[in-house]
Amino acid sequence: MDKIMDVTGGQGGNAFLILGEEKTALVDCGMAYCASNLISNIKKILKKKTLNVILISHSHYDHIGAIPCLKKEWPNSKVLGAEYAKRILNRSNALKTIRSLSTQAAKLFDAEDLKEYDDAMMKVDHVICDGDILDLGDLYIQVIETPGHTKCSLSFLVNNEILFASESTGCMSKSGKIYPAFITSSAAALDSIHICQKINPRVIFSPHFGLLKASGASDYWRNCILAVKETKEFVLRLSEQGYTEKQILVQYEKMFRDDHSRLEQPMNAFILNAQSMIKTVLREKCV
Ligand SMILES: [Zn+2]
Repeated sequence: MDKIMDVTGGQGGNAFLILGEEKTALVDCGMAYCASNLISNIKKILKKKTLNVILISHSHYDHIGAIPCLKKEWPNSKVLGAEYAKRILNRSNALKTIRSLSTQAAKLFDAEDLKEYDDAMMKVDHVICDGDILDLGDLYIQVIETPGHTKCSLSFLVNNEILFASESTGCMSKSGKIYPAFITSSAAALDSIHICQKINPRVIFSPHFGLLKASGASDYWRNCILAVKETKEFVLRLSEQGYTEKQILVQYEKMFRDDHSRLEQPMNAFILNAQSMIKTVLREKCV
C-alpha cells in the first residue's frame, strides 16, 4: 500500500499514483481546475521517475479533466481507456460538454480560470479491455470492465487485492452514504457490483471517496446493491403515483442528496446524473 499515493489536486475528483519499480501509473486525474496541484503532488513523489500511464475509469470531466495538462507535463505518458471512451472523446459535443462542466466546476471551487488547453489533447491513446494486464515491474494492474455508470467504465485491480472500483458500483459520500450512479443501465451496474463483490478485494478505493477503512469494506458491496435497488424503487413508486420525470428529480434531490454531496459535486453535474438515472429506470421498466 505504500506504493499507492493519493495525489488528488482538489475537490470533485480523485487521482491516485501507483508507483511500480519500472513504471508508474495514475488512476484517474480529477478535474481540470486543479491540474497544477495534481501535477505538483505527482512530481513530489515521482522525483526522477516519469509518469508512464494515465488510466481512466471513464470519460467524465471530473475524472479526466486534467489530461491535457498532464500530457503537456509528461508528453510521453499514454492515456489508457476503454474503446467507448476513445470514441466519446472523438466527438466535438462531448469535448464541449467537458469544457463547459470544467468551467462551471472552476467557478464552484473558486479556482482561477481554466488553463488554456487544446481539445486534441483530451483523448485515449491506447484502448484497454477486460482482462488486460499492465505490468509496472513489481506491481501489476488488471483491467475489469464494469459498465453501468457509462458504457466505458473500467475498474482496476492491483496485485489481485486492491480494487479501484468504477463509478458503476456507486460512490460513497464522506457521510458514508452510497450514491448509485447507473447512468446507462441499472442491470449492468448490478452486474458490475457483483463482479467486484466476487473478486472480494482486500482493499477498496471507492470513486470520489478514496480508500475505505477495513470496517466499511465488509458491507460495502451489499450497500452498493441496496443503493441501486432503493433508487429504482423510489423512482418507480413516484412514477406509479403520477409524478413526471421533472417532479421525480426534485423529490430525488431532496431525499437522496446530503450536504457532503452538495459541497462535492456541482448542482448541474448532479442533475445530469440523476436525470439520466431516472430516465434509465423508466426506460428499463418498459422493456
Ligand atoms: Zn462519472
